[in-house]
Amino acid sequence: MSHEIRTPMNGIIGMTELLRKTPLNPEQTKFVDALYRSGGILLTLINDILDLSKIEASKTILENAPFSLREAIKSSSLLFSGKVSQRGLGFLVRIEDDVPTGLIGDATRYTQVLNNLIGNAIKFTERGKISVSISVVERDGDTVVLRSEVVDTGIGIATAAQSDIFDRFSQADTSTTRRYGGSGLGLAIAKQLAEMMGGEIGVRSQPGEGATFWFTCRFARYNGALPDSVQPQEITPFVLTGQQQIRVLMAEDNSINQDVGTAMLESIGCTVTLANDGHEAIAKLAAGAFDLVFMDCQMPEMDGFEATRCIRAEEQRTGNETPARIIALTANALAGDREKCIEAGMDDYLPKPFTLEQLHTMLSRWLPVQPAADAATCDPLPEQQDVQPDGGESAISVLDPTYIDDIRKLQQPGLPSILARVIRKYLDTFPGTLSKLEQAIANDDADTLRLIAHSMKNNSATLGATELADLFQQIEMIGRDSGTAGAAELLSLVETAYPLVERALLVIETVENTS
Ligand code: ADP
Repeated sequence: MSHEIRTPMNGIIGMTELLRKTPLNPEQTKFVDALYRSGGILLTLINDILDLSKIEASKTILENAPFSLREAIKSSSLLFSGKVSQRGLGFLVRIEDDVPTGLIGDATRYTQVLNNLIGNAIKFTERGKISVSISVVERDGDTVVLRSEVVDTGIGIATAAQSDIFDRFSQADTSTTRRYGGSGLGLAIAKQLAEMMGGEIGVRSQPGEGATFWFTCRFARYNGALPDSVQPQEITPFVLTGQQQIRVLMAEDNSINQDVGTAMLESIGCTVTLANDGHEAIAKLAAGAFDLVFMDCQMPEMDGFEATRCIRAEEQRTGNETPARIIALTANALAGDREKCIEAGMDDYLPKPFTLEQLHTMLSRWLPVQPAADAATCDPLPEQQDVQPDGGESAISVLDPTYIDDIRKLQQPGLPSILARVIRKYLDTFPGTLSKLEQAIANDDADTLRLIAHSMKNNSATLGATELADLFQQIEMIGRDSGTAGAAELLSLVETAYPLVERALLVIETVENTS
């Protein structure tokens, strides 16, 4: 059922997200925001119910693979670091020295339980700190029993409620959902998982004095070399410039998901080619150049796993040096799926429904902003390069993004994009102004030259087109000296530099108008 439920959820959440970005009046904004929030809550609930029913139907099989406990705990801490600092809470992690680093077990399920407890601790704590500690409570040959404890300084739980909170849909008191949200399923899942891992779960608490949640689980020790830790790749902020039109192939059979995915990708400046099944994906990939492939796992005719295996086999056969980057899209976001995707040869995995932000993160992870090389070689004015900050390593974009951001900050929610309007005006008037400047030069009219160049300097600077602004400034200076000599040469430099700026602005305008 998982796929059947998640697919329409993808449509609902994705479309709501896009709707939020269209011009809306304040009342509509309120409605759409509520829709979006409810969608998110419903999705969490669905995920929890599916997870719990899979566990209860004994369909969940635990992994038994070597993993690094310290890495697992590090990733949990990273996950919560933003939330903790946002709330002004302290966060301490202590792993006792005798806790072995290499273990054999299910790292995903272990961190799921730990994350649930940490998540709750943060949710129910307004001030103070959260402390996580891991210790060994039993050792027997090659097996260890670990106790993981999460202590908070939050609202606490009355003794009477403590035995029930590990039951399904159970919350300590009836006002909890209203105040803190949640479904009362998290601890029920945590309990089942802890027991599956040969352990127990429990709580010690007094109302108003915080809570200590703990669970134990049994692992085998692992003394071999651990697989290289998967380092989270640095996320490069995603900057769109004219040179970075990203070509995406999206293999997806569901037409609503096609619409949502396309709209989202186009809203961040990508061009999208669709394929309806695995066969089509293989054919389109062979026929065209793509920077990234999004591959739905479950498709008719040929599914995403098989298509990926075919693509990888073909790459091996032909010795292709630039293998396709394939990101799995799957509506079965259950543990173990990621491994299945990676095994089939996919590079990464994006569970559906995904948000615009998650899509963005995925693109930035796999398509780091191209270095400036392209832009620099197109640059007709090498001497302009010293205008760029920090020399070479930052992307030499034709537009300085801080100016664009400043205009974006002026935007009132629900109103048409100011940035798009400014860009449109600039692009519409540019050719006309150029001919007026040409005319002024032909007439040796220094005043007109100065006035027009001055306003073009300001307009270009407003949009961060610093190179053009500099050129117009030089033209303005010539006019101010009551002449026009030398202006024609500068104007031809403007004409050479303009197309790149125009392209970059057009991309931003499109993004503004669709997002
Ligand atoms: P949810 O948090 O989604 O309601 P859980 O099963 O994770 O569901 O938790 C069940 C209930 O246990 C919560 O609603 C809350 O009343 C109580 N609870 C869990 N963790 C804490 C905590 N750290 N401090 C206080 N109460 C908690």
